[in-house]
Amino acid sequence: MSVHSTSLSAGGDPDEMAVPVGARCFYCAFGFGALDGYGVLWNGAHGTALWLHTPCTVELTRGLLRDVHEILLVTGAASR
Ligand SMILES: [Zn+2]
Repeated sequence: MSVHSTSLSAGGDPDEMAVPVGARCFYCAFGFGALDGYGVLWNGAHGTALWLHTPCTVELTRGLLRDVHEILLVTGAASR
């Protein structure tokens, strides 16, 4: 995972990498605007770039952990 700025063209740190123009969020499918601040980049299978808005990263993580919790409850693994 890495974090990229959406404000590089507005005087952001030149060492930061910008979210590419046209990138869309893996979770909500909306694009990135200058006001979004940051985008999170994960590398998917075969190096596929998975871009996420910061709030979408939280929602996706929360959903994944909820699903894992349900699996652990159903399988009884949570009580081990
Ligand atoms: Zn999003």
